[in-house]
Amino acid sequence: MPAAPPSPESWISVRPYGLYVVPGRFYVDPTRAVDRAVITHGHADHARPGHGHVLATAETLAIMRRRYPDAAGTTQQALPYGETLRVGDVDVRLVPAGHVLGSAQVVLEHAGSRVVVSGDYKRRPDPTCAPFEPVPCDVFVSEATFGLPVFRHPPAGQEIARLLHSLELFPERAHVVGTYALGKCQRVIALLREAGYDRPVYLHGALTGLCALYEDHGIALGDLRPAAGVPKDELRGAVVLAPPAAIADRWARRLPDPVTAAASGWMRVRQRARQRGVELPLVISDHADWDELVATIADTGAPEIWITHGREEALVHQARKMGRRALALALVGFEEDEDA
Ligand SMILES: [Zn+2]
Ligand SMILES: [Zn+2]
Repeated sequence: MPAAPPSPESWISVRPYGLYVVPGRFYVDPTRAVDRAVITHGHADHARPGHGHVLATAETLAIMRRRYPDAAGTTQQALPYGETLRVGDVDVRLVPAGHVLGSAQVVLEHAGSRVVVSGDYKRRPDPTCAPFEPVPCDVFVSEATFGLPVFRHPPAGQEIARLLHSLELFPERAHVVGTYALGKCQRVIALLREAGYDRPVYLHGALTGLCALYEDHGIALGDLRPAAGVPKDELRGAVVLAPPAAIADRWARRLPDPVTAAASGWMRVRQRARQRGVELPLVISDHADWDELVATIADTGAPEIWITHGREEALVHQARKMGRRALALALVGFEEDEDA
């Protein structure tokens, strides 16, 4: 008779720097520099600088090299989606997570037991990255950034329509939209293009590099122009994208009578939008909302759910209601924003 598979807790451990896969001797998304890391995606709280060996998708590695030119890993190894690599005593496979370009779930198999670490993910269509694929597993490690029933994201197209409507109402005003540099910026541009908006989109200097990287990977973003040095009148009625921190600072004040917008799942919280001086909050998220989190727990069929990275308690409770064994991992070092 074959031996029963080892319990997942016996080969995946929660350590101060994050999830450690014992039989492979590597971490997944460690919060400090380590010898061997598997990285789910390029956001700064998952992809840290200074690792020894880094395994990730080619896109994630390219993003890391752009962000950390001298510290993206002493050695880098690209693993395409769907291919299996043996690392120590573990089979490792990367599967699309639908979060940002190159984002991956990490599928780990050891001695007949399979654990899937989601990284960050969403289930909504996104023209800038491959869609999330549910993988049947024994343990699903889920993020829970928006793990409260109050978080239900509207269709992104509906939010883009609100931005386009505001441009019609205020053709004399620049519309400055706060977007994270990796993922949200390119998705907002792609959604504008899907909605038929073909005018130039102006960019804060902090956003141009990753837009170029997306285009290098085949994601067409249309006519993009640097906002710097453009005559003020040219920006009337234009869409200008900037990092969230820039929309309310001196940089934005030189724009013509700007309408201040921001694209984030957090814009569902009106108070937060007000605090940040956002007139036009756009609820566009690259994370699963409550319904997507619950549906994904069901879709993986995993009898056991480990929850991390966000609001853990409500989702733990929900998973138990669904008959799953569930626990909160309480990993430290992750930011509540995608790209703080
Ligand atoms: Zn994250
Ligand atoms: Zn992320």
